[in-house]
Amino acid sequence: MNALVYHGPGRKSLEDRPKPALQEVTDAIIRISKTTICGTDLHILKGHVPTVAEGRVLGHEGIGFIEELGSAVSGYNVGDLVLISCITSCAKCDYCRRGMYSHCREGGWILGNTIDGTQAEYVRIPHASNSLHPIPVGADVESMVMLSDILPTGYECGVLNGCVKPGDTVAIVGAGPIGLAALLTAQFYAPASIFMIDPDDHRLAVARHLGATALVNGTSASAIEKVLAITQGQGVDVVIEAVGMPVTFDICQSIVAAGGHIANVGVHGESVVLRLQELWARNITITTRLVDTVTTPQLLKAVMAGHLMLGGLITHRFPLSEILRAYDTFGNAAKEQALKIIISNN
Ligand SMILES: [Zn+2]
Ligand SMILES: [Zn+2]
Repeated sequence: MNALVYHGPGRKSLEDRPKPALQEVTDAIIRISKTTICGTDLHILKGHVPTVAEGRVLGHEGIGFIEELGSAVSGYNVGDLVLISCITSCAKCDYCRRGMYSHCREGGWILGNTIDGTQAEYVRIPHASNSLHPIPVGADVESMVMLSDILPTGYECGVLNGCVKPGDTVAIVGAGPIGLAALLTAQFYAPASIFMIDPDDHRLAVARHLGATALVNGTSASAIEKVLAITQGQGVDVVIEAVGMPVTFDICQSIVAAGGHIANVGVHGESVVLRLQELWARNITITTRLVDTVTTPQLLKAVMAGHLMLGGLITHRFPLSEILRAYDTFGNAAKEQALKIIISNN
């Protein structure tokens, strides 16, 4: 089968690999229908994720048809169209029983990390009963790919951890796919305003279309100044960090209002400066989280009810045979005006 294989920092290739086989009775083999590339895959290719070994098939998002089922997998039949969660979970260990699937003793984020992933014709999914979700009849299948990772990530790590409430002022730093997913799901709670902060006007225009009430294009200092000016110096109740850089974290701690929340979503590769000398007396809550994907069934229902405009996140489409071109496009996201890229297998 065709698969996108990581060969160390800066090196990847599309190559012929053996089709995966069942290894445990709890496994399923999925024939991938659609997958996508994540910002995390670019981090891996820069060599920032040391757990990814050379020779690994990348990808942790996608949908597909069940090809084979282990004897202990329940609730699915061969041929079913399913959503693959980016987080694998056994549903039985102590972490899973607390809803922290991200730290499952036998799972967590392993797909396209410590085991072969979804950017291939077939993938083996361990603990399939809890790590797959049935796709409802009548669903827009392309949109379902947004539910593997970005939608639960924006919602759980950003909106839920940030405790967005009706009437809140919310700012989202970073209008990439994750920031936009937070923007869509923050609207479940009817905040009074949502500021979107990003240096890319195209992404800000998409954010406006998806519900942002104020757009802030500026460098760190000017973005802080603009948000404080609009809020009469008060700052905002919830700041969602959806980039993962020292400069973007600094914007968050500069614009959070007293009593507010900073919900970190971004993947950080280096230390940030925490200005605790300014924050200590301001009743600030700072949260971090790796997505658990415990909200995926809820988000599926919201999508099916028409409450989320997921189509607005998809900008490009490629066949699996052209995945290297898809990586080039996603890697030049600003120039190509790329958000999520759908990669189809046949
Ligand atoms: Zn991802
Ligand atoms: Zn577990």
